Amino acid sequence: GAEITARNIDNLSQHFPMCMAHLHRSLRRDAHLKHFGRLQYTLFLKGIGLNLEECLVFWRSSFSKITDDTFNKEYRYNVRHAYGDVGGDANRRSGGYSPYSCQKILTEHAPGPGDAHGCPYRHFSMENLATLLRASGVTDPKVLQGVMEDKESQKYHMACNRVFEHLHKAELKRAKDDGVMTAAQLETIVHPNEYFKRSYLLKH
Ligand code: SF4
Repeated sequence: GAEITARNIDNLSQHFPMCMAHLHRSLRRDAHLKHFGRLQYTLFLKGIGLNLEECLVFWRSSFSKITDDTFNKEYRYNVRHAYGDVGGDANRRSGGYSPYSCQKILTEHAPGPGDAHGCPYRHFSMENLATLLRASGVTDPKVLQGVMEDKESQKYHMACNRVFEHLHKAELKRAKDDGVMTAAQLETIVHPNEYFKRSYLLKH
């Protein structure tokens, strides 16, 4: 498969769940993300296997409108901290923070205006969610209708898994026919990194 490097993130983003796809698009549009967006995205990238060095390359090149000096002063430390490269003994011993689960993203630090973090199934209006989904290749009215109903009944995971199944329909069918997928692999996705891993494995 493809290497997990800074320059491959654009390509790998086809396997991202909507929360991370939205962060990635916002980053590419604005050449910037606010604090919780950087944190949520950094930890996800760490979780997919991007190492610290490559993660620093990724953020430095993505924040294309600022100088090296500004980057080093304002952003470098937090990325290193998330990887446990700096900070207190406990942070270093544990290797920094763990990537956020859906539960955490759904319930903590609700995004405010100008923020790109959070879970689109929960935090977007249905209209903005539909726009994001269509831009990500989800145009089937039945799927969009299902997502709307999931959202209304606050079953955000269901919406996310529905979209996963739709976007990987052909691969899932093939894997099932080949008997490749185990029952455990077909359990409901409750972590963005699990979404990525499953999508990546199905397409490689
Ligand atoms: Fe991301 Fe989880 Fe929301 Fe899916 S349900 S978009 S993986 S936070």
